[in-house]
Amino acid sequence: MDQMPNCPKCQSEYVYHDSINFVCPDCGNEWDNNEIQESDEDQLIVKDSNGNLLVDGDDVLLIKDLKLKGSSEVLKKGKKFKNIRLVNGDHNVDCGKIMLKSEFLKKA
Ligand SMILES: [Zn+2]
Repeated sequence: MDQMPNCPKCQSEYVYHDSINFVCPDCGNEWDNNEIQESDEDQLIVKDSNGNLLVDGDDVLLIKDLKLKGSSEVLKKGKKFKNIRLVNGDHNVDCGKIMLKSEFLKKA
């Protein structure tokens, strides 16, 4: 049996399944888990320099030296960034402290 998801509305753990919908006794929210999975289609499509799909939580490596804008710091080729987050925009990979373009990264 799959573990019950938390309520998407109030994050309650006391969710139960009534054969069609998930039901949250805390806030009265009812939802169909299939709908939630379908909404994942909104996910960003971000590819690394090799054309591999990147996803939230991936580890990536820098494929070239990059000078940081507005500072003398240089990010060295081969530097690893853990647990990235994909975002919308020109610099589409959130590496924690900095935002980078996926074209300069490859999946670790
Ligand atoms: Zn709830």
